[in-house]
Amino acid sequence: MGDQARLFKASNMNTTQTEALLAAYQHFFPTGVIGSYIKGELQAGSGADISLINPATGDLFVTYKDAGTEIAIQACEAGLAGQKTWAALSHAERGRLMQEAGRVLRANIEHIAQLESISAGKPIRDCRGEALRVAEMFEYYGGWTDKLYGNVIPVPSGHLNYTRREPMGVVLQITPWNAPLFTCGWQIAPAICMGNAVLLKPSELTPLSSLVVAKLIEQAGIPKGVVNILVGYGHTIGQAALSQPAIKKVVFVGSPATGRKIAAAAATRGIPCVLELGGKSANIVFEDADLDRACVGAQSAIFGSAGQSCVAGSRLLIQRSIYDRFVQMVAEGASKIRLGEPSSPDTEIGPIQNATQFNHVNNMIERGLKEGAQIVGDTQVAADQKKGFFVRPTVLKNVTNSMDVARTEIFGPVVVAIPFDTEDDAVNIANDSDFGLAGAVWTKDTGRGFRVASQVKAGTFWINMYKVINVASPFGGYDASGYGRSSGVDALAEYTQVKSVWVETAANPAQPFGHAPTSR
Ligand code: NAD
Repeated sequence: MGDQARLFKASNMNTTQTEALLAAYQHFFPTGVIGSYIKGELQAGSGADISLINPATGDLFVTYKDAGTEIAIQACEAGLAGQKTWAALSHAERGRLMQEAGRVLRANIEHIAQLESISAGKPIRDCRGEALRVAEMFEYYGGWTDKLYGNVIPVPSGHLNYTRREPMGVVLQITPWNAPLFTCGWQIAPAICMGNAVLLKPSELTPLSSLVVAKLIEQAGIPKGVVNILVGYGHTIGQAALSQPAIKKVVFVGSPATGRKIAAAAATRGIPCVLELGGKSANIVFEDADLDRACVGAQSAIFGSAGQSCVAGSRLLIQRSIYDRFVQMVAEGASKIRLGEPSSPDTEIGPIQNATQFNHVNNMIERGLKEGAQIVGDTQVAADQKKGFFVRPTVLKNVTNSMDVARTEIFGPVVVAIPFDTEDDAVNIANDSDFGLAGAVWTKDTGRGFRVASQVKAGTFWINMYKVINVASPFGGYDASGYGRSSGVDALAEYTQVKSVWVETAANPAQPFGHAPTSR
């Protein structure tokens, strides 16, 4: 165990669990120091203590310190220097290094997954998949470094006009706790692909896997300072970094409330931002659907990752003729889902990541019951924080779209089942939400599938499937779910600015106001 970690041992710490966490972390950082990763060095912070809690037990894992303002400023400076070095490499060389980063990440998948599983409380099977996806992100964008062309514009004059896509400079990325590893790759890879440097501030609750990704890609040869990780609170160091002139853009993934604060701070500085916020996505099941497939799809849509997924299918819209039957099918399936220890290979869903979120999920279930909703079957058992932040998959019926449980993001394994009558009805209910992140329709009528897909306001929509996303496809929200796009080619546009370059080509250029110098 590293000295720094020993330093912060506390009385309510479960030593075995802490040792497991530190062993997983020390595989990458032998000193055990939990600090910011700047220019290839871990730096312990000087701010307030932050506790990492084991989501599976509620016990304290370890305590570390918020970076503090001085380190936030240093991180921005490191980004400036790193960006210069990075942008000076050829596009092809940057691509080769990103491909190599993918290879190094692949070689470390099991260790990365173990760390993520213990620290974030996510099932190990999910973490293995997410670690692999992160490797793929570096490989995918590694292929893009030298393939995003500018244009030659047919301007009406004797000039040549062409465009260049240039990096923004240093980009600040602020990420949440629900998928820390996945989100860090999702944001870092397109940003550095285009020659930017990154300062990433992960959630104070789940900083470890982002530190590891930064270290591994450096091991692959990506220069120090290109990716820096700042650990601590958002309202302290997140805001401190955002106020620094070095930061030219901020990309925020998190809750709508924080997103608005980020956008306000960015507006004060006059820098652009991308917001990837929450959702309350409609999963629409018509009576003609393959109900067995739709039932499995509806469960994975909301119960996967214990509902802590921005695209979760949290509003299940069911045609009235099959409402009772389908609700029963989903509840029966939900009762068989294996909830358990994140490290167990059999576990399908793990705990809620933190106590605040755990209380929110339980309060929302209670609020739903007070509003007149009913729990189907015994899918929910009394939640007890002392035994970890576990919430059983819960199906609420007798819900209308105006109830709080149908309007507020719960971000837990709780689905509300809402009946509808016609196709128009389904689309209207789906669109009657502040959010617009994702949605799906289940039907055997191909035309209806396309019609509904075109009418529901959402950044991502699935027909007869749910929750598949890929690094090559754009992702982002409508309305209160945010703006701007992560992933795919669209993300490359977010991480560049367009320069229009004009060249004189006329032999005798017109000079309406100027005069050529007289010859000497
Ligand atoms: P959050 O908004 O509380 O925190 C997100 C990040 O913002 C954290 O790093 C936090 O430290 C930081 N932060 C908090 N206050 C800040 C401030 N004043 N200034 C600067 N930074 C600040 O969100 P959360 O609870 O961590 O995550 C859950 C939310 O994230 C849900 O709403 C979920 O839907 C959303 N989410 C969205 C996407 C997407 O791609 N659309 C993906 C994952 C999660």
